[in-house]
Amino acid sequence: MSDQDLLRKTLSSIDGRGYKAYKQIRGSYLFPLFTLCIDHVQGDPFALPSKIRIRVNQDISQLPRDLWEKPIRKLALEDFIARSVRRSIKQVVTPKKGTGKSGLIFIDAGRQEVLERTAAVISKDWVEVRMQVGLPAAGRTILGNEAFIMLCQEIPEITEQALLWENIDQEACTHFVKCVENQESIKSQLDTSGIAAFVANDSVLPRQSGISDLPLSGTSVVPFQTPESLLTSFEVPNPLMNGETVIHGMGIPKGITLIVGGGYHGKSTVLKALERGVYYHIPGDGREYVVTNNNSVKIRAEDGRRIENVNITPFITNLPQNTPTDSFCTEDGSGSTSQAANIMEALEVGADVLLLDEDTSATNFMVRDARMQQLVQKDQEPITPFVDRIREVYDEMDVSTILVMGGSGDYFDVADTVIKMQDYLPHDVHDQALKIIAEFPTQRQVESPKPIGRITGRIPKSSSFDSSRGRKSVKIDVQAHDLLIYGTNRIDLRYLDQLVEKSQTRAVGHAIYYAAQSLMTDSSTLKDVVEALEDFFDKNGLDQLDPFYKKENHPGNFSRPRKYEIAATINRLRSLKTISV
Ligand code: ADP
Ligand code: MG
Repeated sequence: MSDQDLLRKTLSSIDGRGYKAYKQIRGSYLFPLFTLCIDHVQGDPFALPSKIRIRVNQDISQLPRDLWEKPIRKLALEDFIARSVRRSIKQVVTPKKGTGKSGLIFIDAGRQEVLERTAAVISKDWVEVRMQVGLPAAGRTILGNEAFIMLCQEIPEITEQALLWENIDQEACTHFVKCVENQESIKSQLDTSGIAAFVANDSVLPRQSGISDLPLSGTSVVPFQTPESLLTSFEVPNPLMNGETVIHGMGIPKGITLIVGGGYHGKSTVLKALERGVYYHIPGDGREYVVTNNNSVKIRAEDGRRIENVNITPFITNLPQNTPTDSFCTEDGSGSTSQAANIMEALEVGADVLLLDEDTSATNFMVRDARMQQLVQKDQEPITPFVDRIREVYDEMDVSTILVMGGSGDYFDVADTVIKMQDYLPHDVHDQALKIIAEFPTQRQVESPKPIGRITGRIPKSSSFDSSRGRKSVKIDVQAHDLLIYGTNRIDLRYLDQLVEKSQTRAVGHAIYYAAQSLMTDSSTLKDVVEALEDFFDKNGLDQLDPFYKKENHPGNFSRPRKYEIAATINRLRSLKTISV
């Protein structure tokens, strides 16, 4: 009997029985084109769905080797395949009878960003996709025939459509892979060109709405055009739409860059695109050729956050009641202390570029003008404003800043580049800013009492990471991309603008668990820990983050986070304890 017949027979024999009988279908089944592995069977129709994998051999799938041999192409192709499977699911899957998640088929494919993810994996021998399925039931009674339609008809159809090269939209697929490869190539050239971020001409930066990440379309869109003085060009390995292999756009040099301009002229839109430029984007996103240094970290005020033992003295000293600021702790940070901590924590784990927007900054952290200096003297003001540190951060630590600042001209004195957004287009106004400095010298005093000096490292104590809840020793839930529940700790990630999807957050949660179990020693600093995690991902991929991972049981819904978001999540864990070094 073929495996397919066997599965059909089992399904018909358990039809009408209690849900637990579904456990019998666990195992692997050889279909004509693929192997179906049913790795995990859910306990009831409302529980987390069952986990399956579909594996197609390369000689059947015929994915061109050229599209997956290089690591960057493999990453892109895997991402593309997960998307095509999601598209086929939409076309093929019909609504089923039943309760709970009955009949649903789900794959964790990406959105505007292209990330390393576990939903689809290509090896030299096969291509595999991991899906979740809701095994159908009426109440708790198995609907065997519905399950048969799902596993033996819909799954094969999805596989044929999405995993066989002959049925894949080959042109779109090749374009996707090559576009991502171009993005990688630009990224690799940034540093040696002295560029912190690049925005290609004709990029479409604005989004459809405040709650949509899709590009704005229509006649109101103003495509990006670089000012002549900032024109930067990069060679790319694959021809662009216009047939050329050189891409032109605006290079934001390392150093200190101000983005100024009137309200509503597109400043924040540029900065948001730069924030996301640390990731690759799908072709057609509009930001696919907005490429930012990988170690760029968005900094903002975040009052209410917890701060654990951070040395914020470069920005804040002499707090009331002698509260120490070299090992600052609070359950409820203010706008300025939270922004100071966010900067120090980003520097602690290796940021190269800080991204700030006045819209989301604490005013008293950013500026302190001449008149205020007269009224409130330095010895009564704990804050050394960012304007008095920004230069030192670049000159001494080689950390650049890109700052949206329409509200204060005091930053002109410290800027290397000044870009003015006007009617959504950038203009280089550095020379004008210099003239203004000469004509209207600032009346303010520079306030930086002591140099920043060495950044204090911190050793996180593994005992502060309790992953247990109730009877479970490991309970990590992701309610939304910005809310991680680790054991009984709710970690609020709303202000991590560069954490982009739920699967990343899930990976962060499990990475923290793995780190607490295996990487945190008495001497490993937070920086050591997050760097060790990066090595671990590079070597092993993300699969092994699942605490229940067994060789044949893949999680299928992780996407790769950056070390900055992992560190930031640890920093927001309310039970965190650290020792300074
Ligand atoms: P600012 O930060 O300068 O006040 P925003 O970046 O918030 O301005 O942009 C204001 C509005 O203009 C937003 O609704 C945004 O979507 C829209 N917008 C920004 N850039 C463009 C553009 N290039 N083309 C069309 N609309 C844009
Ligand atoms: Mg703004």
